Amino acid sequence: MKFISTRSNEQATGAEAIVRGMAAGGGLFVPVQFPPVTAEEMDTMLAMDYPERVAFILGKYFDEYEKEGLLAALRAAYARFDGDDPAPLVRTDEGLYLLELFHGPTCAFKDMALAALPYLLEQGKKLAGVGEKLLVLTATSGDTGKAALEAFAGVSGVKVMVLYPEEGVSKMQKLQMCTQEGENVNVVAVRGNFDDCQSAAKKIFRSEKCREEIAKRGYLLTSANSVNIGRLLPQIAYYFSAYLDLVSSSQIRMGQSVDFAVPTGNFGNILAGYYAKRMGLPVGKLLCASNKNNVLTGFFQTGNYDAKRPFFRTMSPSMDILVSSNLERLIFETSGRDAALTAERMKSLAATGRYSVRAEELNMLKETFAADYTSEDDTVECIYEFFEEYGYPMDTHTGVAMSVAQRYLGKIKDDTMSERHPMVVLSTASPYKFPQDVLYALTGNDVKDSYKGVKRIHLLTAMKVPEPIKSVRYKPIRFKTAVSAEKAFDEIVKFLDA
Ligand SMILES: *Cc1c(COP(=O)(O)O)cnc(C)c1O
Repeated sequence: MKFISTRSNEQATGAEAIVRGMAAGGGLFVPVQFPPVTAEEMDTMLAMDYPERVAFILGKYFDEYEKEGLLAALRAAYARFDGDDPAPLVRTDEGLYLLELFHGPTCAFKDMALAALPYLLEQGKKLAGVGEKLLVLTATSGDTGKAALEAFAGVSGVKVMVLYPEEGVSKMQKLQMCTQEGENVNVVAVRGNFDDCQSAAKKIFRSEKCREEIAKRGYLLTSANSVNIGRLLPQIAYYFSAYLDLVSSSQIRMGQSVDFAVPTGNFGNILAGYYAKRMGLPVGKLLCASNKNNVLTGFFQTGNYDAKRPFFRTMSPSMDILVSSNLERLIFETSGRDAALTAERMKSLAATGRYSVRAEELNMLKETFAADYTSEDDTVECIYEFFEEYGYPMDTHTGVAMSVAQRYLGKIKDDTMSERHPMVVLSTASPYKFPQDVLYALTGNDVKDSYKGVKRIHLLTAMKVPEPIKSVRYKPIRFKTAVSAEKAFDEIVKFLDA
């Protein structure tokens, strides 16, 4: 299948799109069409295990990749996950489910897609005839960075550079990244918030001069962020997988609609749900759940995107984002795939922090999306109450989504015209990844030390502490550099020259 840019008439093969990470001029690659999954194929997928389901979905897009090789790579990557199902669905109540996406090597949902990316890139290089080594540049709000480091550590011909906001990640996230082993990785703190970090990375992507400097050293720049289509498309698979698991456990019949609530930051996770729907998965509503940084809530209500607002640091740091990259792919669809108009809107976003969509586009969006946000207090309350009622501890990001989902379900109940669908809440991180905030939510106690938090949550919930959380505790801190956003590229040059 071919891929096209959201901002120009540029085209690429799947392999080229993955290897390049982004299209020219800042555009994002999207598939020329959404390949349908037929009723027969859904039946066939019922019997598949998770790696097979991912390989099946990816095969529809990346048809030039060799199928057995892809499946073998996925099997090996998901074998590193804890337990026998990489994406288990947990039923907590009638019609209410949690899709646990945090059983990978870094305890957050970014592992679901990063598991596939090294193979997609490596094979992609061969298919696209690219001889250079790869520099994987990643801006992270905390979880992508670690997932990229784990996925690429020790992979030959690849160097990984992670930029994270100095004050914008949890202590545990920082510890996980800064203790990463491997000769081919580097982690640098950028002064500012995630938006500063992401825009520093995007600037490097757009700069001919930066690319030249990198090329001189024998490297080609690519991305492990969800702007890379190879990061995004594997995420479609868990929407299908959750749905199929509901069917095979007789919770729903095939064809029935299911709603998904998604804790959202950069809009990658929920966009994969939209792509699943476009491929034919019976998705009812996609609930876009935000924290106090509720720029997306405003957008889905009014059609006006307005990033000119105060930035808040919250206890769900991976969602502390005002410039939500993947929304570009969605408005490309609602615009009727108008690249010139999308480019214009993104130009307006860069210049003024704002853009708007037309009324008919907003109506289209409202058919599929509902958006809401929660305060920090409501998230805390939700985590506490949910544990009281169901004995199920959630992380702070999942707490945002659950809080929004519960409010939505309450509204549906009062509105006799709306049909209630089963609701799947995407659980994006282990509670142990945000131990201080989760402990606070569960008990009202503040602890300074992350591992005290881990221990107390364990005593309270009896939930198993994941190995990756245990193991970073005594590892030496390897990375301590912090720079301004303008100096980020100098660090890359140093890293390549080292
Ligand atoms: C990245 C992340 C999110 C937000 O996902 P997007 O794809 O950026 O919308 C939510 N929760 C956790 C734990 C994350 O790491």
